[in-house]
Amino acid sequence: RSWSESKLGSELLLAVERAGYRKPSPIQMAAIPLGLSQRDVIGIAETGSGKTAAFVLPMMSYIAHLPPIKDENGPYAVVLAPTRELAQQIEEEAVKFANHLGIRVVSVVGGQQIEGQALKLKQGCEIVIATPGRLLDCLESRYAVLNQCNYVVLDEADRMIDMGFEPQVAAVLDAMPSSNLKPENEDEVLDERRIYRTT
Ligand code: AMP
Repeated sequence: RSWSESKLGSELLLAVERAGYRKPSPIQMAAIPLGLSQRDVIGIAETGSGKTAAFVLPMMSYIAHLPPIKDENGPYAVVLAPTRELAQQIEEEAVKFANHLGIRVVSVVGGQQIEGQALKLKQGCEIVIATPGRLLDCLESRYAVLNQCNYVVLDEADRMIDMGFEPQVAAVLDAMPSSNLKPENEDEVLDERRIYRTT
């Protein structure tokens, strides 16, 4: 099992090597090729399994081919997490790779002044890592727009629902262009969850 089997491009492979990750973990081996194929992925893995890099690396690969965001017109991708602490851990993991690729990551979480976060959003970023309520505040205040955002990760989605964030998560998803897509056929409507192909 090696990184060369993961289908990541050479710039991502270099970023992984620089982060000191010698071998991909099982969740990374399973999820990264699926994420790169632009399919919707549901991943289940424990904390400590390397799940963050499993979703962050395909996200970086998607963004690496897009032009840098100008001003406040970003992001291209959003990660939602239930708590500030988790959002900060995701940010730490993301910047390990992002810095090598010239990708800017901003975290937007509750419990801190919104003005500082608004300023960073205004300067431009490709990835936002957020708690749902604070990102919704930023959207309503027009500090952030999601009209170029076609990539979303719901980290610990079950916990976000348990904590009562479903309305905020739904409102954030509604602000993305893909929310206008309709399912291609009935087979894609499973258990009342709406599963849309975004490619
Ligand atoms: P996570 O499960 O995403 O919270 O990751 C747990 C820890 O493992 C984090 O500190 C990561 O930086 C680290 N990590 C993730 N993937 C790898 C890997 N392939 N090789 C070595 N360390 C890793």
